Amino acid sequence: MKVNLKLLKRLYLIDHESTNEHDMISFILNYCYKIPHLIFSIDKERNLFITKNTTNPENYACVVAHMDTIHNFTSARELVIKNNIITAKYIKSGIQCGLNADDCNGILVALQLLETLPNLKVCFTTQEELGGIGAYEAANNIEFFLNVRYLIQADRRGNKDLITRTNGIDSASEKFVEDIQSLMEKYSYSESIGTFTDIGVLASKLLISGVNVSCGYYNEHTFREYCNINELNNCLNFIYEIITSLDNQETTYTIKAQKPYMSNYYSNYDYDNYTYDDSPKDEYDLPCDHCIDQDCMHCKQTW
Ligand SMILES: [Zn+2]
Repeated sequence: MKVNLKLLKRLYLIDHESTNEHDMISFILNYCYKIPHLIFSIDKERNLFITKNTTNPENYACVVAHMDTIHNFTSARELVIKNNIITAKYIKSGIQCGLNADDCNGILVALQLLETLPNLKVCFTTQEELGGIGAYEAANNIEFFLNVRYLIQADRRGNKDLITRTNGIDSASEKFVEDIQSLMEKYSYSESIGTFTDIGVLASKLLISGVNVSCGYYNEHTFREYCNINELNNCLNFIYEIITSLDNQETTYTIKAQKPYMSNYYSNYDYDNYTYDDSPKDEYDLPCDHCIDQDCMHCKQTW
């Protein structure tokens, strides 16, 4: 499989900041209407639940992606692609701005897999960047997740992390990691620890194994955000092969009940007093380079 660059570019240019995801939801629905064998539902937080069923399988893999972004742009943007790297800038000023790769990369992966695979479930969430508000509501859709064997999300910076611990819990089952070990080696991924994302919320509430996969974006939440297309491509094929290789098994990958030590990680973030500054400056208000993770909960450094 190859990244559909035309689709990726369209996704990046849709404005869809948290709580204002309407244009992204419309785009995804319109795109999915053209894919046969899909059924949809939407809940009160505007999470989208999509099932593709062509052969009546007993159970499904479920891909998760969030439809919101932290970026709130001030004017029209354009994309710049150079040496396999995509960035964005304001057309008027020429100043670099956020790209929306977090999590349009994940949306792209979900849409391309929906087009390609015969059977798949996808949960597109809202308000991930506000502390997983969408995912907490999505987890109440028991009927949708009842026949889901495992969850996969492409919402991690970089190119090599398979996040198996996030939101303070072991989100992935050991058996799942064992079953995809050879693919991890093939695509150069290794187990790592994350901070917070939707699959952590869903896994902790539903007790279904979930992983988050590096998908080639960097400097998310800043105007320096960029995407490495080759790395996104690697992620897309990694997830595609995971799903196809596990397809013939009956196992549902479960995890044991654990208490996430932060039910809402972003509560530490003081969102009420947080204003997003999209203007370039040398010192950006981000955690230390050593940890990069936003709460630095596994980081011994002080900054
Ligand atoms: Zn994200």
